[in-house]
Amino acid sequence: MNRTLFVNVGVWDATGAATYPGEVLVEGNRISKVAKGSERLPRDGAETIDAAGCTLIPGLVEGHAHPSFSNAATTVEIGDIPPEEHVLVTMHNARAMLDAGFTSLYGAASAKVRLDVVIRNEIDSGRIAGPRLRAASPEITVTGGLGDERRMHMHRESFALIADGPDEVRRAARMCVREGVDNIKINISGDDFIKSAKAAMTVMNDAEIRAAVEVAQAYGKRVNAHCRAGESVKAAIRCGVDVIYHCEFADDEAIDMLEREKHRTFVGPAVGILYNTMYYANRWGITEQVATDLGIKRALEACAATYDKLRRRGVRVVPGGDYGFAWTPQGTNAKDLELFVKLFGYGHGEALLCATKTGGEIMGMADLGQIRAGFLADLLLVDGDPSQDVSILQSKDRLLAIMKDGAFHKRPRVALAGGRQAAE
Ligand SMILES: [Zn+2]
Repeated sequence: MNRTLFVNVGVWDATGAATYPGEVLVEGNRISKVAKGSERLPRDGAETIDAAGCTLIPGLVEGHAHPSFSNAATTVEIGDIPPEEHVLVTMHNARAMLDAGFTSLYGAASAKVRLDVVIRNEIDSGRIAGPRLRAASPEITVTGGLGDERRMHMHRESFALIADGPDEVRRAARMCVREGVDNIKINISGDDFIKSAKAAMTVMNDAEIRAAVEVAQAYGKRVNAHCRAGESVKAAIRCGVDVIYHCEFADDEAIDMLEREKHRTFVGPAVGILYNTMYYANRWGITEQVATDLGIKRALEACAATYDKLRRRGVRVVPGGDYGFAWTPQGTNAKDLELFVKLFGYGHGEALLCATKTGGEIMGMADLGQIRAGFLADLLLVDGDPSQDVSILQSKDRLLAIMKDGAFHKRPRVALAGGRQAAE
């Protein structure tokens, strides 16, 4: 059995405790022992990593992952990718997120039914490198909703599945389950770049939402919903949706409902796409004025106000900012943590808890997301202490080692005790 011992390391264990000096022993794919202070763990037979005071944290969890999104500027382009290329795109993106320290991805939506599924299976088999992945379905959307790219005179594929009425939603959801997804995505709100379904509109009805939830519950899957409008958030909660994304226009009633259901549901702002569309999309013709005209500034301000409230109410919030568009490229996902601090009022350690402890919870794994004996050994060795400054996680050079399931994806270059040098 593989044994790896981290010594001379600061341990930030995601239990809510501050970073403490200690040692961590990994045996097989699990953390077997954690020592605090001057306590020493047995060295025998273990590869010993002298971390020189760097910080060990749990691997990050991306709570709104789109590994099949191709860093395109429009959603139409994502639908145009042929399946053969699309599998490769998805494979490379999953790898890019692992390279960035994300050892788990909670799939928000996939661009084709089997993309997340086949990549999850290849990763789990060990044939390709990638994070743990809860595979998502495509976005199930109603005619005219976000993701319906058809026109009267032409059929056009998109990243969505179009379904109207509970029977069609049920059929689409069951088909996704048959093909192996873990999460079913539905679009309850529109979006401001969709002429026929704006962000403030609730375009999927309760019967349709309930159909998706019934299928998910029957098969032990989760339902994710795209909800911008307050009414959409309320409908999602009323109908039993598990993960509610965006929520920026949640009114007080919706926020009360989210608080009441906080032990069952998760929310994710997907703030990265709003922020980068506002300030970093100039190259694609989206100046601040264009973004403001598109409603992005209003959405960003609403998002900041809503998530400040949700944070105070103890609602479980996951980072994940719709990375996978041109100005939110895959692998830059850790920026969301900085935005949690900058825009929502989280402390650095609190933001990190959202990406680790809460991340383990949204993955549905009781033994993921913390550094505790018996937990899965998904670990990052970081140059510096991200619980004091989460922005350092955006620099790959600061990620000295990435371990997933007890094996190094990125080996540390630090000296090993006994004078050996770790192979890269
Ligand atoms: Zn998304």
